[in-house]
Amino acid sequence: MARYIGPVCRLCRREDMKLFLKGDRCYTEKCGQERRAYAPGQHGQNSRRRKASDYGEQLREKQKVKRIYGIAERQFRGYYFRANRMKGVTGENLLMLLERRLDNVVYRLGFASDHAEARQLVRHGHFSVNGSRVDIPSYLVKSNDEVLVRESSKKVKRIGESLTAVDRRGVPQWLEVDKENFRGKVKSLPAREDFTMPIREQLIVELYSK
Ligand code: SF4
Repeated sequence: MARYIGPVCRLCRREDMKLFLKGDRCYTEKCGQERRAYAPGQHGQNSRRRKASDYGEQLREKQKVKRIYGIAERQFRGYYFRANRMKGVTGENLLMLLERRLDNVVYRLGFASDHAEARQLVRHGHFSVNGSRVDIPSYLVKSNDEVLVRESSKKVKRIGESLTAVDRRGVPQWLEVDKENFRGKVKSLPAREDFTMPIREQLIVELYSK
């Protein structure tokens, strides 16, 4: 699957908000969005951000969410259609599906400092869910699932360092982490109020339902 491997701060500057794609650096004064709060590119500094059209707003909202979770277009579209088939509000279903991804849960629990690192750690087989090794980043967790760092992976430096820094960003209330035992639990499925970033998911639904 094609993955963006360019400079990630550029993505935040394009969306004009912090997407938290670079671990600890996002919480320091070195944050690219704070130091250069203008659009990327040769003319970014001189061009004022114009009022976007309806389509432009919908597109930017979709791009923002895709970038937060590090998901390619095709897979993202698949989540939308799945959310559309589910009961309830499509936009909220979409966010809930994305939030339940194992790589996201690993990040939210503090076992990784950003989504890209979480994805790689999952791929490398450092986690188990309910006792079974799972190395699929898109695996969807369920209520009461237990996510553990596998015994042989507890000494992985990146996991330990991320855990010590997790208090800064906090663990969402639908998850619970036991840092001493490298263990996380899904207390319940995420609800709309658990999303703290300013996301207007309705715009994404409007974009795809054209
Ligand atoms: Fe975005 Fe983090 Fe870079 Fe700041 S440091 S611009 S939040 S990726």
